[in-house]
Amino acid sequence: TGTGLPTDGAATRSGRFTPEAARQDMPILQRPVNGRPLIWLDNGATTQKPRQVIETLASFYATANSNIHRGAHTLAREATDLYEGGRAAVAEFLGAPSPDTVVVTRGTTEAVNLVAQTWGRADLGPGDEILVSTLEHHSNIVPWQMIAKERRARVVPIPLLPDGSIDQNAYADLLSCRTQLVAISHASNVLGTVPPVREMTALAHRYGAKVLVDGAQAVAHFPVDVQELDADFYAFSGHKLYGPTGIGALYAKPEILAAMPPWQGGGNMIDSVGFDRVTYAPVPHCFEAGTGHISGVVGLKSAIDWLTSFDHGAVAAYETALLGYAQQALATVPGLEILGSAPEKIAVLTFTLAGHDPMDVAHWLDQAGIAVRAGHHCAQPALRHYGLDAAARASLALYNTTEEVDELVASLHQLQAQSG
Ligand code: PLP
Repeated sequence: TGTGLPTDGAATRSGRFTPEAARQDMPILQRPVNGRPLIWLDNGATTQKPRQVIETLASFYATANSNIHRGAHTLAREATDLYEGGRAAVAEFLGAPSPDTVVVTRGTTEAVNLVAQTWGRADLGPGDEILVSTLEHHSNIVPWQMIAKERRARVVPIPLLPDGSIDQNAYADLLSCRTQLVAISHASNVLGTVPPVREMTALAHRYGAKVLVDGAQAVAHFPVDVQELDADFYAFSGHKLYGPTGIGALYAKPEILAAMPPWQGGGNMIDSVGFDRVTYAPVPHCFEAGTGHISGVVGLKSAIDWLTSFDHGAVAAYETALLGYAQQALATVPGLEILGSAPEKIAVLTFTLAGHDPMDVAHWLDQAGIAVRAGHHCAQPALRHYGLDAAARASLALYNTTEEVDELVASLHQLQAQSG
């Protein structure tokens, strides 16, 4: 394109994954916090950004900034090519059949709302049921409650087992010819649970129900193939994938997308407009009204290129090993209990510490430069399953190390020792 911006994926750095390779790309890990080296264990909330993504964003504005799909000039063409290149990169990353099956959104939340407001408004009716797992983030619960109320449909929770797995027997019992949609996370942000999405999807399809998979916590941690899952919808956010905030994507099967009415109206999503008649642009553009986060798409492609420059399977194996290490190390802290022990789980460690409010635990750790989240994690039903309103959470990423886990554990030991 002549912009100096990357247009195709970086070559894969093959071999065994080591976190140092990722750490050296992360400028923010160089800064101290409260006089200590930053230990970022709040990756479930958002991941840090590699230098490559930061430079791509700056380079886009410095060399290629333009609106897209309009204007017969060089920069408009270049920006459009970069934007569509981002869409193509997302499609390839998700194993989607073509870029046209990918709608650019602000993130997972907007993607779920888009499906609820378009597919949901058109296809849901009185008495229909939407099965939603109890471990969902609020963004995969509330949009369904809103459209269910409007369409006089019902949201039915799928219960959890004590280990934080979705109760598969209850799920099978809840499915019926009334089920129109099943909404499930590919990985839970609070318990780490990775449900058997492929099997759950196959079962839902036997009843003619669609399945929406919330991939917000999954995509950074293990390779995803939407066709292999046979998911009808798949949503994720760029900022949890080492990319910019305010950008994400919705994948939908082509025949479903083609039948969905548009959502927001405005520029970019139309073919022609008259006061007597309006025709819409083809999918996926008819779902992208207005000027979107163009640089965000370019940055998202850069993040995907960065992540996939590592062997993603090796990254997943490293994170699983780090999870095992952290589980064992945390178990040595008196009074600490980890929530969620599903057999398949990502490296999310949500815990309570006897005698301490989770927010106080987070503040204590912050003094040592360690960032963890405390609160309800936007998944109140999942926490209530354990009789809790709040918990602390350390969520790990590919740049975290066993030494950082040791720091976390040492700091928690100190807190328990000083409170006697
Ligand atoms: N789903 C899950 C599982 C999440 O963890 C999050 C964010 O924490 C979301 C959805 C919402 O993502 P966003 O705020 O980027 O739209």
